[in-house]
Amino acid sequence: MVDLKGQYEKIKSAIDTSIINVVESAAFINGPEVHAFQKDLENYLDVKHVIPCANGTDALQIAMMGLGLEQGDEVITVDFTFAATVEVIALLKLTPVLIDVEADTFNMDIDALKKAITPKTKAIVPVHLFGQCANMEAVLEVAKENNLFVIEDTAQAIGADYTFSDGTTKKAGTMGIVGTTSFFPSKNLGCYGDGGAIFTNDDELAHTIRGMVNHGMYRRYYHDVVGVNSRLDSIQATILRIKLPNLDSYCDARRDAANYYNDAFANHPNITTPVTSDFTTHVFHQYTLQIKNADRNALHQHLLDSNIPNAIYYPVPLHSQKAYQDDRYNEDDFKVTNELIETVISLPMHTEFDKEQLEFITQTILGFLK
Ligand SMILES: *Cc1c(COP(=O)(O)O)cnc(C)c1O
Repeated sequence: MVDLKGQYEKIKSAIDTSIINVVESAAFINGPEVHAFQKDLENYLDVKHVIPCANGTDALQIAMMGLGLEQGDEVITVDFTFAATVEVIALLKLTPVLIDVEADTFNMDIDALKKAITPKTKAIVPVHLFGQCANMEAVLEVAKENNLFVIEDTAQAIGADYTFSDGTTKKAGTMGIVGTTSFFPSKNLGCYGDGGAIFTNDDELAHTIRGMVNHGMYRRYYHDVVGVNSRLDSIQATILRIKLPNLDSYCDARRDAANYYNDAFANHPNITTPVTSDFTTHVFHQYTLQIKNADRNALHQHLLDSNIPNAIYYPVPLHSQKAYQDDRYNEDDFKVTNELIETVISLPMHTEFDKEQLEFITQTILGFLK
């Protein structure tokens, strides 16, 4: 699905040198490289505060802790996403409220959002799924009307731009009160292990969160709140510092591959290519087709048999997962997600394709669906 080795080869000497420098400095935790990466990312995102942490799941959990959400508070998020989002809501004993997504963009459905709000609702977690932003202007408006926090899960969309109707543009993850991301190796900005970060323009929240990631300490060995231990280590930070200046060109390479796929599959009766909303750029963390009136599962197997990696993201809606089932849910409220899990298929997507690979993938798919 990804070609991390090929990407590494192109930056190998810079990466190798920087890793050796960290090892020689012995500043493995909270060293200067972590602070420098924090500043680099604040500049790139044009956000006041970046708080690095251990992974994207922790980032979501700590963001919710920082906002002071409490047991019983309802947090609305989408049914069609990676489980991390709903997992941390449940872990904190908040009440997850899952809602359906739009059939074309796979992102949060605004009508469903409005319907899900109750007096207990405290926060909304839009997930910028597969690399394009959810309808943030609408989400922020609903949040403002109902006095709710917006936590943007940007694990799949770092680098995407959102344009508001007044023409202003912001980076994904910097529009709500807080945004989170993951640097898992296969993400668009991936390190060589686990990593994550939290973004906010709110000084007070940033201060709260900086203590929370470090055992609730604001002064050494004084623990004011219950925190966690969630750190980005210096080796990962130095790798991310080298990769961040390439993020925009990595996104361009992904878009080029997506354009190749789009052209190859255009107007095919069984294939719906990804739709990008006009208010967002798409950074194609995943390139996901919908296969209709044809056997999606047989295509999945045929591609595997042809040595073409591919994946079903996601095969089970969160509301049907054993861990998250709830009598409150009504199947009629998840029509789109219930259909997507039967039709979606994600193709290889990375920064290092050559024409022959794309040709082989598209020809194999077109040959099978003929
Ligand atoms: C990857 C991902 C996460 C979790 O990130 P980790 O670093 O793996 O903990 C959270 N949300 C979404 C949407 C993701 O894709």
